[in-house]
Amino acid sequence: VTLFDGGRAPGGRASTREGRRGAWEHGARFVDVERERERERDDDDDDAADAWMRDRAREGAFVRWEGAVVALRGGRAVKKRLGARRTATPSFGAVAKALLEKVDLRASARVVGFDASDVDGAGVVVKYRSAAPDEGGETRSMSGFDVVVLADKNAANVADALGVEELARAMREVPSVPSLVLMVTLNRAPAIEFVGAEIENDDALSWISNESSKPSRRRDANCWVAHSTDAYARAKVNLDTRPGTREHDAWMDAVANEMSESLLRILREAEANADVDVDGAPLEITYARAHRWGAAFPAAVAAGAEKSKFLRATSTSPTGRVTTVYAVGDYCVEHDRFGGFRAAVASGLACAEDILATKSARSKL
Ligand SMILES: Cc1cc2nc3c(=O)[nH]c(=O)nc-3n(C[C@H](O)[C@H](O)[C@H](O)COP(=O)(O)OP(=O)(O)OC[C@H]3O[C@@H](n4cnc5c(N)ncnc54)[C@H](O)[C@@H]3O)c2cc1C
Repeated sequence: VTLFDGGRAPGGRASTREGRRGAWEHGARFVDVERERERERDDDDDDAADAWMRDRAREGAFVRWEGAVVALRGGRAVKKRLGARRTATPSFGAVAKALLEKVDLRASARVVGFDASDVDGAGVVVKYRSAAPDEGGETRSMSGFDVVVLADKNAANVADALGVEELARAMREVPSVPSLVLMVTLNRAPAIEFVGAEIENDDALSWISNESSKPSRRRDANCWVAHSTDAYARAKVNLDTRPGTREHDAWMDAVANEMSESLLRILREAEANADVDVDGAPLEITYARAHRWGAAFPAAVAAGAEKSKFLRATSTSPTGRVTTVYAVGDYCVEHDRFGGFRAAVASGLACAEDILATKSARSKL
């Protein structure tokens, strides 16, 4: 098994930004355990993804993230929200890496095309562009694959080269919602009693959380994240600028400034309302950086994936060699904003089971 991932490290939207100032989960924040328990009680709904999550929790990869999560209106906690949660430890990024220990992982390797004509008699050729320092951005290729799993709906553009138009169309037709995420450090810990909050009635922000309150993080790092509202992201996100360009950096800085203003106002209001003695300097942001997710949340389930939890098609080369192509990911399973991680796991597990079942059926022929 070879995994090509365009990102610097595996994890995708469940990954971690880490630096000398601290660590931020700028995508998936946590996994909702309350709903997992409900499904467990109702045997019919308890599925392979829940069992997988429980196994990883038993191994210590996921642990409880303690602390209150509230709904905040005008800086005032109006009700308690979201019960038991698990977060990856030490981080989502580290767990992804550990899970891939036995896989030939090619990070910073963006797949740019395929050749399914079986040119060298050794199956599909994957063409990828590596940003790894020793591979210099050239397009390279690797052959020998009988099964291709596309793990991002944005990979529909490369799926065309495999001759699986219907599958590519189903991927392409899933609409998605963008998101902007702010990562900051504060000059001190805010004197408040919650670790996360859904923000009500704010134009820019929908969620804030204290990343340094997660298990195995440095408490004194005071790292927080803030997530945009859909309306703010829709109004701001343009996909014209390329990361790494001056234009993109300027745009991201402007977004970071705006979101920082909202976050600081919300935290100061929450502190003022918390009825706790504030001991120290006024709360300030000491570092801020924004991240753009062009396609953060799928807004529908891919047509054809509703039951199977994946899409599958085959393509046959002129030499008669059959390649099976799968498309997997959170967009193949219905879920809400706190269930995307589990949806992606459910899709991946269902696909893996299908690959193994097909392989074993073939070997019996
Ligand atoms: C801001 C935000 C907050 C979220 N909060 C939560 C939460 O609290 N709880 C929760 O459960 N879920 C949450 N989610 C959702 C969760 O992160 C996703 O549902 C889940 O991570 C999706 O996993 P995936 O494997 O389907 O896709 P992804 O994680 O997007 O993985 C796709 C991978 O494919 C790679 N890729 C794409 N194209 C190519 C190519 N051509 N070549 C090589 N590699 C390629 C990408 O680099 C990426 O690594 C959140 C998401 C966001 C963005």
